[in-house]
Amino acid sequence: MVAKLKEIYRGKAKTMYETDNPKALYCEFRNDISAFNAEKLANLDRKGLINNHFNAFIMQHLENEGVETHFIEKVGETASLVKKLKMFPLECVVRNLSAGSLCKRLGIEKNQPLNPPVFEFFYKNDKLGDPLINESHIITFKWATAEEIAQMKALTFRVNEILSKLFKVNDLLLADYKLEFGLFEGRIILADEFTPDGCRIWDAKTLEIFDKDRFRQDLGNVVESYELVARRLQIPLK
Ligand code: ADP
Ligand code: UDP
Repeated sequence: MVAKLKEIYRGKAKTMYETDNPKALYCEFRNDISAFNAEKLANLDRKGLINNHFNAFIMQHLENEGVETHFIEKVGETASLVKKLKMFPLECVVRNLSAGSLCKRLGIEKNQPLNPPVFEFFYKNDKLGDPLINESHIITFKWATAEEIAQMKALTFRVNEILSKLFKVNDLLLADYKLEFGLFEGRIILADEFTPDGCRIWDAKTLEIFDKDRFRQDLGNVVESYELVARRLQIPLK
C-alpha cells in the first residue's frame, strides 16, 4: 500500500499528494467541476469516482497501444498513483469537429468536420485564462524545445488515432480534447487526465453531448452522461 503524504497541489478538479515513493504522486479525482476559467463552479456527486475509473481505462488502453503515460495504478475508488513529472506549462488540443473556442475565435460554424484535424497549443496559466499560443512563443519563452514540441504534437495526434477509433466503434465521436505532457527521466510522457472533463464526446448518430459541455451549457445529467460514455466503452465502474 502506498502512503499518501503531503498535499503538493490542489487544482480545480484534482489534488496531488506526495507519497513514500519520491518518483510517484497520489492523484485524487474530486467531485469539483469548473468552467469559464473557474467562473462557474459546482460539486457533482460521483464525478471523481467515474473520472478516476475512466482515466485509468483510457491511460491503460493508450499504454497497450504503445503510448507511454504517467499512470501507474488505481489506489482507490477516486485516486490513482502516477509518475511524478516535470510538467510543460502547455495544453495540446486536437480538434476533429468544430466546437468551443475555435468557433468563437474564428467564426467557424459548429459541428463541422475538420480535415486535417486542427492542432492548437495553449499556455497553461489560470491568471491569463490559458491563452492560445504558437510554437514561436514556446521556444522564445523556453517552455519547451523544438524537439519537445515535435514530440508532443506527434504523441497528441497518435492519441487521436487510437481514441477516435475506440470511440467510433462504440458509436461515439471524439470532437476535441486536451492533453498535457511532462518529462520523466528525460522522456516525454502523457500526464494529467483523459476524462469527459477535458474533451468533447458526442453520440455518433444524434450528436447528443456527453461531456463537460453539459455543465457549461446547463444541460443537466452531467455525471449521468459521463457514466453513459463509460458504459459504452465497457469501463468497469464500482
Ligand atoms: P488545474 O491545475 O488546471 O486546476 P487539476 O485540478 O486537474 O488542474 O490539477 C492537476 C494538476 O496536476 C495540473 O496542474 C496538472 O498539470 C498536474 N499534473 C498532472 N499530472 C501530473 C504528473 N504526473 N506530475 C506532476 N504534475 C501533474
Ligand atoms: N480544455 C480543457 N481544459 C482547458 C481548456 C480546454 O480540458 O483549460 C478542453 C475542452 O474541454 C475541450 C478542448 O480542450 O474538449 C478544447 O477547448 P476549447 O478551446 O474549445 O475551450 P472551451 O470553449 O471549451 O473553454
